[in-house]
Amino acid sequence: MKAVLIIFSIMFSINGENVKEVFQEVPVFHLNFYLMGMEEIDNSITIQIGENIEYLNQEFEGQVIFELNHLVMDPNHAYIPDLHRDHLSQDRDHIDDLILPVEQAGSINVYLFDTYTIDEKLGAMMGFTPVLSAYYKGYEHSAPRFDRLFISYPGLISKTTLVHEMGHFLGLSHPWELDPINLDLMGFNSPKATTNHMTYHPLVDNFSKEQLERMRHFALNFRSYLLSRVELRPIPALAEFNRSTANK
Ligand SMILES: [Zn+2]
Repeated sequence: MKAVLIIFSIMFSINGENVKEVFQEVPVFHLNFYLMGMEEIDNSITIQIGENIEYLNQEFEGQVIFELNHLVMDPNHAYIPDLHRDHLSQDRDHIDDLILPVEQAGSINVYLFDTYTIDEKLGAMMGFTPVLSAYYKGYEHSAPRFDRLFISYPGLISKTTLVHEMGHFLGLSHPWELDPINLDLMGFNSPKATTNHMTYHPLVDNFSKEQLERMRHFALNFRSYLLSRVELRPIPALAEFNRSTANK
């Protein structure tokens, strides 16, 4: 399936005034959560998962939408830093043994594991996301191997770990990995950049509008094989403008 970026517009009338409503394609993903190391339901964790998805949708501002699909419990467990080390050394056996028996293809798979502190200064590793650094069409060819986010149980508490890792999943980099042109293109010249979700600031609270547009585009073009559906929604800034002109 290939997603083509099209902007749709229709004319309609409010109080006798003609208003042009402009629509854009909004990608909708399903999320599966895997509660690793758990044999029975833990209500406090399921509540945290619900709150994390709500915050994720809030921070994506309707540019990308996420819906909970399945919650899967599995007694197998491991630690995030160990899995990250395996990932860096391209040792896939351990990860595959753990998750292939339960993994369901076709959604974004979020694996919850425990974590521990390796570096006192950095604190415990809260999560990581395996990504391709180029040739993004490769995501579809290697599915579901790159359709995974690894998040620690403590990472659910602040709710920002899932948002940061989803940023990577949809093509964003840390600001220190970008050259000056791309920093500018991703909106890192704004005063809010210090608390951007892709930094390691302790109180992150925003994506730039450039990042949101980039992730929407990335989802439609390179993660289209995972989409649950595409909705047509009014472009937020234009909808606001139309409301204010219609009400004047
Ligand atoms: Zn990161």
